[in-house]
Amino acid sequence: MERTLVIIKPEAVIKKLAGRIISIYEDNRLNIIHAHRCLPTKEVLAKHYKALQGKDFYDSVVQFMSSSEVIVLILEGENVVNIVREINGSTNPLKAKPGTIRYMYGETVQENAVHGSESVEAAKEEIEIWKDLIRFEI
Ligand code: UDP
Ligand code: MG
Repeated sequence: MERTLVIIKPEAVIKKLAGRIISIYEDNRLNIIHAHRCLPTKEVLAKHYKALQGKDFYDSVVQFMSSSEVIVLILEGENVVNIVREINGSTNPLKAKPGTIRYMYGETVQENAVHGSESVEAAKEEIEIWKDLIRFEI
């Protein structure tokens, strides 16, 4: 069964939005097969955001994502990667469709409440990158 990696980002955890966000995934019939709260290490973030290395916002994103604890979820279901991307909404909350998580709870392009893997392949890589930190046994 297809899996994806979701991160409820620091500002959303601080604002106590995790329960609301998790409910949205469950309302869409996705299964939470793992959940773990942790402080991301810069080592894990460097691997997770390797595609962004060289971008002007790279250092800022890594700094933000390691600034406070996040909640990492692994969700499972048919077509879960695309369904989660749809539910999360556009990267920029101001461009996200009404009803999406980023529309409702995102603050800025950087502090946009949630991460969701971009493809099945990326999801597999990300689960591998995060598995030790989140104590997930594949
Ligand atoms: N990001 C940012 N500034 C930008 C683009 C992205 O701070 O101009 C951050 C934002 O937190 C985003 C993350 O970097 O979620 C990863 O960027 P990506 O383009 O992969 O967006 P996503 O897949 O998260 O929608
Ligand atoms: Mg991305």
